Amino acid sequence: MAAQGAAPSLKEVHERSIRERESFWAEQAQLIDWNEPFGQVLDYSRPPFARWFLGGRTNLCHNAVDRHLAARAHQPALIYESTEVDVSRVYTFAELHREVVRMAAVMRSLGVGRGDRVIVYMPMIPEAVFAMLACARIGAIHSVVFGGFASHSLASRIDDAEPALVVSADAGSRAGKVIEYKPLLDAALQLASRAPDKVLIVDRGLAPWERVAGRDEDYATLRERHLDEDVPIEWLESNEVSYTLYTSGTTGTPKGVQRDVGGHAVALAASMKYIFCGNAGETYFSTSDIGWVVGHSYIVYGPLIAGMATILYEGTPLRPDPGILWRLVEKHRVSVMFSAPTAIRVLKKQDPSWLAKYDLSSLRALFLAGEPLDEPTARWIAEAIGKPVIDNYWQTETGWPILTVAHGIEKTEPRFGSPGMAMYGYDLRLLDERTGEEVGNNEKGVVAMIPPLPPGCMQTVWRNDDRFVQTYFSTVPGRLAYSTFDWGIRDDDGYYFILGRTDDVINVAGHRLGTREIEETLSSHPAVAECAVVGVADSLKGQVATAFVVLKDPSKAADANARLALEGELMATVDKRLGAIGRPNRVHFVTMLPKTRSGKVLRRSIQALCERRDPGDLTTIEDPGALEQLRQALGAAA
Ligand code: ATP
Ligand code: MG
Repeated sequence: MAAQGAAPSLKEVHERSIRERESFWAEQAQLIDWNEPFGQVLDYSRPPFARWFLGGRTNLCHNAVDRHLAARAHQPALIYESTEVDVSRVYTFAELHREVVRMAAVMRSLGVGRGDRVIVYMPMIPEAVFAMLACARIGAIHSVVFGGFASHSLASRIDDAEPALVVSADAGSRAGKVIEYKPLLDAALQLASRAPDKVLIVDRGLAPWERVAGRDEDYATLRERHLDEDVPIEWLESNEVSYTLYTSGTTGTPKGVQRDVGGHAVALAASMKYIFCGNAGETYFSTSDIGWVVGHSYIVYGPLIAGMATILYEGTPLRPDPGILWRLVEKHRVSVMFSAPTAIRVLKKQDPSWLAKYDLSSLRALFLAGEPLDEPTARWIAEAIGKPVIDNYWQTETGWPILTVAHGIEKTEPRFGSPGMAMYGYDLRLLDERTGEEVGNNEKGVVAMIPPLPPGCMQTVWRNDDRFVQTYFSTVPGRLAYSTFDWGIRDDDGYYFILGRTDDVINVAGHRLGTREIEETLSSHPAVAECAVVGVADSLKGQVATAFVVLKDPSKAADANARLALEGELMATVDKRLGAIGRPNRVHFVTMLPKTRSGKVLRRSIQALCERRDPGDLTTIEDPGALEQLRQALGAAA
């Protein structure tokens, strides 16, 4: 027990959040506004479905925008920075409120009401945020589709959502190149089996577009018409649906995650307080995209619910130069920043002096999530910016961190290579895949959670309760447990280490190894910028590891001799750290790895190519050229 008066430790808070689940979350629920108080905190009468804050009425838009008008109407709320179209614009809470109400009025005029779905297929522009918050305001369900997806992915999401409205734009811009959205949208609507009645286009003047009469509307025109209309908040029961969103598709089958209203708002508010430690009036900067869960939770809802200004950045980490992210931190006095390991690995290939050019004194911590954060990358960035780097592990399904450190509760040190400890609310276990039994400390197991899942986690798969139960709760033998499909290990102090996805575990001559362990080791070599390791079927050993490595300086592998020497060095590094059992049979040098549009390595596709199989569904791939490189590397090696 904590000494009298001392704040409880994270471990104590975690234990209490499981033991006294309802009182713990009832307290957190005070962090948001309720129009009508909830009665029952949790209904778990139908496992594994959990319903939080029953009967309570609230609204995400109210909590993110309206409730701040009294204290901070004229403080920044949404900061739009575009290095694509060279615009910088700040919306105060009052201005954000006006624009959201206008967007809500336009949506209503197009027939959108409570419970209707709205597809948001937009570049990173303020209107995208207005559209999300407008949906929340009127009780419509948004389904944001990442703007980088093409017609096929968009069409399948339209079919699943059956939207009343699609909100889109004439075009986006990526690294200075205009990307027309409207033709992609038109093609998707052709492909979709049931197209929506209305399409709302935000015309940025980037590309001419063809208007389909009777269906397509121009946002600026309708906005003028509804300039001063009032649209009151629609108070929703806590368990109504706020949004649906697909997982990143790293394993090739995106799942439609459905989230509620009350639990979602409470979970985000609590995470802002305990994990991100962001205060009202400060600025939050997440480099993600609104098309992903990080963008939902920590570009739009989380920071705004906390009364913070949030930066919406349309651009890449390298343009106009590799200092751009840090320049924005200086310019807006950012106190909390959130990015992904993949973005940091991009910077690692640049001149490190870019990171020392700007005044980062406002910044308290850099949070990184989405992928394993290897120790060398974590150390590199922590030293370069001189700030704590906090890894955090979670999923689209959970909406907020499962593993991290919570400095709002206790100032535990993050450990390089570990995303941290179990967060309050998650009854986290490491289970043996075959027996369902719990494994001990320092033993490998599947990262799993005993339901009920805490507030903020997915309610179900959109319109498919069976798939929810089948996919997530039916893989651990003998018990009802939510499987994350990630494989991990916990040390004696309660720090977890993620070793890769369960199907990335390879079996070399009877030894089970996470591909992540081998990747981590390869990354410790100073020449390596990033790498991917997959298990490839082998008639003798069952499986062998094969590695693909991107070098910081590709010229170091320019000729066959250099490649051979480096391959030998890398293999020796693995021998030394992991033992010969983990040594890859081959190390291939490439200049890019196949990744999802959210920046995650598509190990499944790499493995398929290595085994001369079809790489599978590639709708979410960033650059098909990366697969071509792999094919060539493999072909040359054959
Ligand atoms: P899909 O489920 O469609 O295959 P996905 O799992 O990549 O795609 P997300 O929900 O975006 O979709 O990603 C969650 C996954 O990302 C986690 O299950 C884990 O594998 C990985 N991940 C996220 N953060 C971390 C982290 N900090 N460390 C290690 N892995 C992480
Ligand atoms: Mg997943």
